[in-house]
Amino acid sequence: MNKVKCLIIGSGPAGYTAAIYASRANLQPVLIEGPQLGGQLTTTTEVENFPGYPDGIEPFQMMDDMKRQAERFGTQFVSGVVTKVNFQTSNTGEARKPHQVWVEDTDLYEADTVIIATGASAKYLGIESERTYKGRGVSACATCDGFFYRKKTVAVVGGGDTACEEANYLAGLCEKVYMIVRKPYLRASEIMQQRVLNNPKIEVLFEHNTVQLTGEGKVQGADLVYRKGEPDEEMKHIAIDGFFLAIGHHPNTELFKDFIARDAEGYIITEGHSTQCFSLPFKEGQGVGLPGVFAAGDCADPHYRQAIVAAGSGAKAAIEADKYIKSL
Ligand code: NDP
Repeated sequence: MNKVKCLIIGSGPAGYTAAIYASRANLQPVLIEGPQLGGQLTTTTEVENFPGYPDGIEPFQMMDDMKRQAERFGTQFVSGVVTKVNFQTSNTGEARKPHQVWVEDTDLYEADTVIIATGASAKYLGIESERTYKGRGVSACATCDGFFYRKKTVAVVGGGDTACEEANYLAGLCEKVYMIVRKPYLRASEIMQQRVLNNPKIEVLFEHNTVQLTGEGKVQGADLVYRKGEPDEEMKHIAIDGFFLAIGHHPNTELFKDFIARDAEGYIITEGHSTQCFSLPFKEGQGVGLPGVFAAGDCADPHYRQAIVAAGSGAKAAIEADKYIKSL
């Protein structure tokens, strides 16, 4: 069993920033890296909107820089996945007990404070053939898998910034890129829209939805429906080698569902401007804070979902953890 003052779960911008602040506050944090080192950001190609990088930065580089910065001040990193937690120890009027966190079911950590920075994961459409071809033409990460589709034809599903970014990236590698967009317009920011619409390799299929993927052992095509339910509804087939999902994310918070309050989509609810989590049962406007448990980054942010915002909330969580420990 390991006893720690501050345990941070997650290795994205929120987790690493919390680690930098917590280690500088002498909380000697331990950071559990989780299944995706560096977090979601590492699934994009280039970060252009994080202040301090006028020429943009490669996401792996940025996350490695953050990690090294936290390391410099003494953060200890543990590679592994948190499989179980027990936060049911501090809010019942009994003597305060540390929170318990298990890594890979076996390694128990007892922590005075826990900062949850578990981020969010890619959503899938939920169609049967997506599962059939997972890893055989279906991907949710152009940066990770785009290389396999050089000079081929692929489709990207979604009309947000991620989809546009992925489509542009893939257009640099592939022969042709379809964008399958369910609305008659793109949701992405103006600059991203322009990049897509001005790229001759990208064809945007507005008002199309994917019905199923087809192919012998791997993705070779997609059946789409145009304007489903409308009088001019039409079926369409496109020949593709790769099918990339870029339709948003869901928060990685299932692990905490028995202990802290979450909204209907699973995002952790925090108290006002702070990162303080609420204990269960939770009633809107009458929430009771769960002492020592804080949430930062995309796992608690249904609105902004930006690396810079995640980093900022990581700093807040560490400052609040420090304040809490000093109050003990
Ligand atoms: P968004 O939620 O912004 O966009 C999701 C897209 O997927 C929308 O076009 C949505 O359609 C579509 N979609 C959702 N579900 C389905 C479905 N079942 N079938 C078909 N299409 C579907 O997510 P993003 O990941 O693009 O962006 C998240 C946040 O991150 C945003 O705030 C974005 O601005 C930011 N971001 C910024 C970047 C940058 O600045 N470089 C890069 C990437 C992300 P509909 O519009 O119809 O709802």
